[in-house]
Amino acid sequence: MPVTIFENAAVVDVEAGELLADRQVVVEGSLIREVADRPVSASQAHRVDLKGRTLMPGLIDSHVHVTAFSANFTELQRSSPFYVAAAAARIMGGMLDRGFTTVRDVGGGEFGLARAVEQGLIRGPRLIYGGKALSPTGGHGDVRLAGVDRHDDAYNQPGLGRIADGVPEVRRHAREEIRRGAHHLKIMGNGGISSPTDRISSDQFSEEEISAVVEEAEMANLYVVVHAYTPRAIKRSVRLGVRSVEHGNLADAEAVALIKERDAFLVPTLATYRALKDEGVEAGLPVELAAKIDDVLDAGVRAVELAQRAGVRMAYGTDLLGAMHRRQLSEFALRADVVPAADLVRAATVNGARLLRLDREIGQVKAGYRADLIVLDGNPLQDIGVLAGLEKNLRVVMSRGDVVSDRLA
Ligand SMILES: [Zn+2]
Repeated sequence: MPVTIFENAAVVDVEAGELLADRQVVVEGSLIREVADRPVSASQAHRVDLKGRTLMPGLIDSHVHVTAFSANFTELQRSSPFYVAAAAARIMGGMLDRGFTTVRDVGGGEFGLARAVEQGLIRGPRLIYGGKALSPTGGHGDVRLAGVDRHDDAYNQPGLGRIADGVPEVRRHAREEIRRGAHHLKIMGNGGISSPTDRISSDQFSEEEISAVVEEAEMANLYVVVHAYTPRAIKRSVRLGVRSVEHGNLADAEAVALIKERDAFLVPTLATYRALKDEGVEAGLPVELAAKIDDVLDAGVRAVELAQRAGVRMAYGTDLLGAMHRRQLSEFALRADVVPAADLVRAATVNGARLLRLDREIGQVKAGYRADLIVLDGNPLQDIGVLAGLEKNLRVVMSRGDVVSDRLA
């Protein structure tokens, strides 16, 4: 098996929040074999002198939509699945080039794309997916305009969600996603921006329906992810066993306390609201939906601050659509006023890995872990701007032991 040794690396210990100078990181095949503090002898190894540059785990984005080539979900659903796959390949390649070696897709990503990455057919981060998000009629996954009756529920149409009403339907749809290899199940807990007919303040799914999805997920040793902004929607889903709360923009002290108490996760996605406000309409968001952005934009930072103070485990998420994907690193800067740098580094590494239940495989630079690594200039523990500006600072991306981007020279 090929051996690569990164010499003279400053390794980020993400758990301790420390930079360990002068380390030698030995990669064999797709795994990290050793992290040594003295020279390592190995014949035939490929040696790369990092000259003191920072080496850290590849980043994890826990909230993406790799098929969302447009912010217009109605258009997305009408597109050819082949076109969408081609667009997803470009989006995923971009993520890898920004230093993200694992992403969790929470609506749209599926087994075919994950397999294509694994087999090397397309460039991209490891894809953790849940298939289509479950939505009730008129919910955040229902892209019909008010005047349209029929919903195309063919699985091969490339929308982000599917409509399920009532416990039997919700169970059947959950089982269909599990059958296709889902790593988690996503439900819509209240209204959203890009759906044409729902209101942010309305809850989605009854308690019986949510409990049924949670039961189906747990039977398969999976967990449930909820799209939720309001305290009411957050609290009812977490109380019913949902483990991953997405966005959470309007969360209050009681809601974050419950997330903490139940050991659930919060995945804020400030990046997408900032992006939608700045350029959403240009990127395809129907202009009549843009008014919904203000309901959640400014509150988002305050929710992150509350969660940070309460000690809630947060993961890094972005939720970007269409041309706005290029802002994937902006979430670091958007949280920087209320979250210390070391915690932001953890959000995009160990915390993401724990959320994905992959914390014995990814998220740290440790012997036995997957060789998903990035090399960069600067110390992100001292200055989170180093990650926010990673496009300039990134030197190497290694994914599953292969160097997929090299700008060391
Ligand atoms: Zn999303």
